[in-house]
Amino acid sequence: MATEAPRTAIALPGLRVGQRATLLRWRWEDSYAGSGCQRYNVDCRQNQDQSIVNYEKEQQVALAAVVMAAQLCQNVRRQPDFSTLTKADRSPVTLADLGAQALVCQHLLAAFPQDPIVGEESADILQKPENASLLRDVTDFVKPFLPQATATAVIDWINGGNAQLGPRYWTLDPIDGTKGFIRGDQYAIALALIEEGQIKLGAIAAPALPMALNQLNPEIGVVFMAVAGGGSQIRPLSGGAFQRIQTRPVTDITQVQPIESLESTHSDRPRQQALAAHLDIQRTPVALDSLAKYGIIARGEADLFLRIPLAQYAANYRENIWDHAAGAIVLAEAGGQVTDLDGKPLDFTIGPKLSQNRGIVATCGSIHQQVIAALAELGI
Ligand SMILES: [Mg+2]
Repeated sequence: MATEAPRTAIALPGLRVGQRATLLRWRWEDSYAGSGCQRYNVDCRQNQDQSIVNYEKEQQVALAAVVMAAQLCQNVRRQPDFSTLTKADRSPVTLADLGAQALVCQHLLAAFPQDPIVGEESADILQKPENASLLRDVTDFVKPFLPQATATAVIDWINGGNAQLGPRYWTLDPIDGTKGFIRGDQYAIALALIEEGQIKLGAIAAPALPMALNQLNPEIGVVFMAVAGGGSQIRPLSGGAFQRIQTRPVTDITQVQPIESLESTHSDRPRQQALAAHLDIQRTPVALDSLAKYGIIARGEADLFLRIPLAQYAANYRENIWDHAAGAIVLAEAGGQVTDLDGKPLDFTIGPKLSQNRGIVATCGSIHQQVIAALAELGI
């Protein structure tokens, strides 16, 4: 990571770029043969402690919602072509982002009508006359899951995700990694429940992510689920039992496996490289879209993820709560740690932005303080 070595893009079986998948398997097997993450066969119902029992309905609703939204996204991605628009902030939005938000919000509002939902998308774009065909498309993709869907209902469901924060609220990214979704790479549906500023539940559906990166012919599509105090678990998107996941206990920081976004604007690469050089981190980062990166660290396949705001944005750039909440609890409950660049906990009480936090440091746990100290030494 210390040099300009090429990054390894994670391209996965079943997607367009099969050759890169072969390269990836070789890299991971070469690095970690025999050292896979610690897994336990867990029957979550028999192992629930009190804190999980308290959130049983929330888990069931969140799981059903993200799985359904993932199916909608996959249905959209199977189309030879699908509608993509550019939002005011110049980021892309597709009919799948909007349809997924409609599905998840409808589910949450039906089960927990008092809970505010703070989601990424708004239906404003669908209410413009020039986007009438997009509204029809979104409604058509929602209907197989909610036969009562009409254009008006879809708009209401999407806008149900535009609430303000409350003492208890949900935050939703209906597609995290929209550019990856469009490209045919990784993306995720991310949902988290927050009470009094504490993340209590996180559910992530990653429809294009293999169950394990170092296996030949792994099942594709996973769900991560974590509940505060109850551990972090993984399950195939297609169904089956949840299994407990744990981070790798890395003790030698030079052997850390970094992971980063494919999008070069998400973090300051030169400063990441300066940190890697300072800590003598030997491994080249792997690159992957979406907050599935948190899940990959949580299941022991990587160890370090940084979001260092680009220098030109650093003064005022802040992260969105929906880009990190679900990932942060999945990683923390698996033994990892997530803070900002100053080592401060993420503050989910302010608004849609993590306005009290500068950047993100997500690690397997054992190396966290060493990374924070190094960032301070480098003035990052
Ligand atoms: Mg999004």
